[in-house]
Amino acid sequence: MIDLNKVTKIHKNGTVALDKVTFHIDSGEFVFITGASGAGKSSIIKLLLGEEAPTYGDAVLGGYNVKKLTRRQIPKYRRQLGVVFQDFRLISSINVYDNVAFAMRAVGRPRREIKSRVEAVLEIVNLSSKKNSMPDQLSGGEQQRVALARAIVNAPKVILADEPTGNLDGRLSLEMMRMLDYINKSGITVVVVTHADNLVNILGKRVITLDHGRIVSDEPEVRRSEA
Ligand code: ADP
Repeated sequence: MIDLNKVTKIHKNGTVALDKVTFHIDSGEFVFITGASGAGKSSIIKLLLGEEAPTYGDAVLGGYNVKKLTRRQIPKYRRQLGVVFQDFRLISSINVYDNVAFAMRAVGRPRREIKSRVEAVLEIVNLSSKKNSMPDQLSGGEQQRVALARAIVNAPKVILADEPTGNLDGRLSLEMMRMLDYINKSGITVVVVTHADNLVNILGKRVITLDHGRIVSDEPEVRRSEA
């Protein structure tokens, strides 16, 4: 699903943000990418969003090489992705239902399909009772669940979450991770970029750790016995 092959990103000022980063993420995997501030996490996100191209090497997602994306291909490329940001990024002037429906309207889905699909995803994130609420009437945890509903509503191949628990307390952070895990179980590949080591350690998923732009470890998922 995602292939980085010796990806190096050098900024104009000479800063090496990524240094020969190579990893492969299979379809259906759940992967954490961690590292201290400045390690290169945002650089990976920008790369996978198709916002920046590698200076050297190749980054391929869903068969598209990021370096070779044409302007016309970018919307199609992005449609493979559902994105969750640290700061939720909801539209404050419209309610929960419309925030989620917006993503489907933007790609021209028919009205009837929008209604049933939005209601289904609000159910998944446990927010059916809040569909008429405005974002500022919700807690941080609820706002992030709306963002997650919006990310999955168009059935993306990959969920890309950029510090999704950065504005949540411990309990809500764990709840958000468990929800991502649940969504992953439906077959969507999930990539979570975070520096929240405590959560990463609890969940036992594959963890790719960056330091100064290099991969310093790539720990496989801890398989727990199903006893
Ligand atoms: P993280 O998200 O892990 O904090 P980043 O990917 O943002 O790390 O940054 C990796 C390195 O690249 C850092 O040293 C950062 O200062 C540098 N960097 C990021 N963006 C730019 C830019 N536009 N110009 C110059 N240096 C940058």
